[in-house]
Amino acid sequence: MYIPMLDLPGQYQRLKAEIDAAIGQVIASGHYIMGPAVAELEADLEQFLAVKHAITVASGTDALLLSLDALGIGPGDKVIVPTFTFFATAGVVTRLGGIPVFVDIDPADYNLDLAQVEKRLQEDPAIKAIIPVHLFGRPCDMERLMALARQYNLKVVEDACQAINATVQVGNEIKKVGTIGDAGCFSFFPSKNLGCFGDGGLIVTNNDKLADKLRMLRVHGSRPKYFHQMVGYNSRLDTIQAAVLKIKLKYLNEWTEKRVNVARRYHEEFRAQGLAEQVVIPPLTAGHVFHQYVIRVEKRDQLAAYLTDRGIGNAVYYPLPLHLQPCYAGLGYQPGSLPVAEAVCQQVLALPIDPELTREQIRYIVTAIKNFMCGEK
Ligand SMILES: *Cc1c(COP(=O)(O)O)cnc(C)c1O
Repeated sequence: MYIPMLDLPGQYQRLKAEIDAAIGQVIASGHYIMGPAVAELEADLEQFLAVKHAITVASGTDALLLSLDALGIGPGDKVIVPTFTFFATAGVVTRLGGIPVFVDIDPADYNLDLAQVEKRLQEDPAIKAIIPVHLFGRPCDMERLMALARQYNLKVVEDACQAINATVQVGNEIKKVGTIGDAGCFSFFPSKNLGCFGDGGLIVTNNDKLADKLRMLRVHGSRPKYFHQMVGYNSRLDTIQAAVLKIKLKYLNEWTEKRVNVARRYHEEFRAQGLAEQVVIPPLTAGHVFHQYVIRVEKRDQLAAYLTDRGIGNAVYYPLPLHLQPCYAGLGYQPGSLPVAEAVCQQVLALPIDPELTREQIRYIVTAIKNFMCGEK
């Protein structure tokens, strides 16, 4: 049996007729940049996420970059980011001349440890913004985070690249992640929960002025064309990608439900096979969309090799925390500075999470892990 992390060709085959027709239509139309499908997708996303403005851009990285830029983050500005995330979360801060302030994570949910965030804010009044990451699709505690942001006057850019359709309670309301901070950023990278056939991204906001600025920033700061109000970027979503995403968005609720079911089956299987002691499995938190199903084990590298040998997809997200990346050596962090993330990086292993995984496949994967654990003793 071969079980990939994700079966994107399989997903395409199921939607082939619909997708091929939409792509063909765009090609025939000649409107390859900012064609009608872009605005149509944005309207669909505004409705889906219950947010005032959806602005598509060229990638999730650009979504973060343009958001921070539009919110005025620039040279010397300090921005809190978790050290355990994809590189882009911090890279964009540095790209704008800002300084990422790395904070450790809570081992229970892999998201920012808000007690440590508060400590940093008390020590350093120069911090201007914070980028909470809803890692692996699990929502951050946005209620508590927004209270801190108000208290310390911070801009909040949510990195929801892994968490489209995840929800979290804020006050009496259940909200989609990404719609709570000043801006929320999403990625349409192919392997994300809503992915296109290349790079793509999205910024959402309820702030009219910010949305207006972002719409200019993505077309070189121009309005009208060839009249530049500011220096911007070339960061648009291709019409072809928008046409594909418009179709896929209709299936996102179904796919999300299936991912949560896959996670539930893993959960049941790990418990049924008596592994809940040796393997740290993610709890089935409300609102979690399981972009990844990540376990923690002691002999991670050996288990990864064992699974690979048996045709079971697996991946390490992420092997090295950002504060210890070579490019950030100049910031003065040492091994031991942020110990939770450093330990977690040695133990995390993501298992296959394709929405169409069967109960038999999940049993096969968990059985392989059990055999590895037994063989080890
Ligand atoms: C994927 C991802 C990004 C970047 O998105 P791209 O579309 O690949 O540029 C940023 N942050 C996180 C947490 C991601 O997972």
